[in-house]
Amino acid sequence: MIIVEDLHKNFGGFQAVRGASLEIAKGSITGLIGPNGAGKTTLFNVIAGRLPPSSGRVFMDGEDITGLSPHELFHSGLLRTFQIAHEFGAMTVRENLMMVPSNQKGETLWNTWFRRREIAKEERALAEKADAVLDFLTISHLAHQKAANISGGQKKLLELGRTMMVDAKVVFLDEVGAGVNRSLLNTIADAIVRLNKERGYTFCIIEHDMDFIARLCDPVIVMAEGKVLAKGSAAHIMENDAVIEAYLGR
Ligand code: ADP
Repeated sequence: MIIVEDLHKNFGGFQAVRGASLEIAKGSITGLIGPNGAGKTTLFNVIAGRLPPSSGRVFMDGEDITGLSPHELFHSGLLRTFQIAHEFGAMTVRENLMMVPSNQKGETLWNTWFRRREIAKEERALAEKADAVLDFLTISHLAHQKAANISGGQKKLLELGRTMMVDAKVVFLDEVGAGVNRSLLNTIADAIVRLNKERGYTFCIIEHDMDFIARLCDPVIVMAEGKVLAKGSAAHIMENDAVIEAYLGR
């Protein structure tokens, strides 16, 4: 689904990504791991259109998407969530979900005036969709809480919920597990697996928690020093000498 070819990203004279090539298969939950500074986040940022590459190409479903803006990628179904979830704190969880689609018709005054009935109908459909998403993620009880007041793990679920509001195809998740308690981490893992199996989502996940990666991801891609070092099942990766050396900094 995603092919990255010989990607380079320099910051001034520093090469953060230096010739990374990888594939993310359709329908997979692919893990991306590697020591700090390996270039994982930079790679994510380039794929998701937040940084232009210095050279190299990115393809999605055979189409060259290199350098497309996050907005353009969003419309192709490629989404990236963030290490720190960007919710609108003063709005409720449900309102946050309803904010997501950017092609709502209520945008211009003309539309508002002449199409009030249609808009009201669309808003109802949006609200119903938001409720179905909350139900799927088992967080219906949070619907009317202000997003600022929910926990870090619940914000991650809200981020997943936002991807469901736009029916994403491929989702890049950044450190889902950071600072999230065990039970909520299980809820998040469960939601990822169900989105993958039931909705056909493809995931690429950066995560430091190896248990989480081993449980969810196949294959796992290991990056070190801006390149792909190894790829395989979690069990296979953990036995790979080059991977062990990269982690131990030898
Ligand atoms: P990872 O996510 O694997 O920890 P990063 O992609 O965040 O790695 O960083 C890779 C390297 O690039 C690091 O050495 C980091 O300091 C450097 N780097 C990342 N972003 C920038 C930037 N905007 N300017 C300069 N150096 C950066």
